[in-house]
Amino acid sequence: MSETPSQKPKLTESPNSAGIQNERVLLLVFESLKWDIHVLCQTASVNRRLRALAKRLLWRELCVYRAPNMISALTQGSSSGRLIGGWLPLSKLLFFCGGCESTRHFELSRPLPGHFVNSTRFSKTSGRSFLTKYCRGDVLYVSDPCEHSVGDEQNDVGIYRGVFRAFMKSRTRECLIRRQVEFEAALRCPYCGARVWSMTAARLIPRKTAARRLGSNDDGVEYFVCLNGHLHGTCWLVHLSSDDEDDEDGDDEENGGGGENNGGDDTDGGSGSNQY
Ligand SMILES: [Zn+2]
Ligand SMILES: [Zn+2]
Repeated sequence: MSETPSQKPKLTESPNSAGIQNERVLLLVFESLKWDIHVLCQTASVNRRLRALAKRLLWRELCVYRAPNMISALTQGSSSGRLIGGWLPLSKLLFFCGGCESTRHFELSRPLPGHFVNSTRFSKTSGRSFLTKYCRGDVLYVSDPCEHSVGDEQNDVGIYRGVFRAFMKSRTRECLIRRQVEFEAALRCPYCGARVWSMTAARLIPRKTAARRLGSNDDGVEYFVCLNGHLHGTCWLVHLSSDDEDDEDGDDEENGGGGENNGGDDTDGGSGSNQY
């Protein structure tokens, strides 16, 4: 783990704690297991004490292990390591594709179930494609789309997810508030359960850049942002789309967030292994 000592949460190591209840031992065990998400879920459901320990320590360590650069960017300026929305929702966001149902602006013939993913690549360069020009200074990490077949439909559905840094201070949130966009009535964030705004309803989707990034067509993109800055969205994936690595905007790598976002995109252990 590549954190500075000051960012480390304090570990409890009382004389009475032994074995699995000794936090240092527990951290070493999970490190040796490469922070297996399934084992961690099981551990957190054993009893109240371990659930509290996971909430205070383990979910955060899991996130740091899986996506150190991204976590470092998301927690910048917060020496306490606190995160808006908490670490459990972020862990879920890293490891779980939420599936999707029909929404106002995106109709499906049937709901698509969520599922665990082995690894997903999150990128803030990608995230910038989802921000309008006014909001480009916001830092947003977005995953590659997870491909879901819907049977008889011609195109596959792409499901993606992401998270804002410091959403409370973001221009995106400012726009949503200023435009008095209403929350979606029937939809909640699949990661934290908070209410969500439709970015289509808010007219805050830069359709061309978002569609190009996803390999979709301009009117086949919809995403939602929750009160805690988690993003989840859907798109129609166009087969044989052109290479979207070219940044026609020309500003993809520049001035995103005041120049302190070095280190490039975060990758979290490889790409292309979304499964369902
Ligand atoms: Zn999926
Ligand atoms: Zn959320």
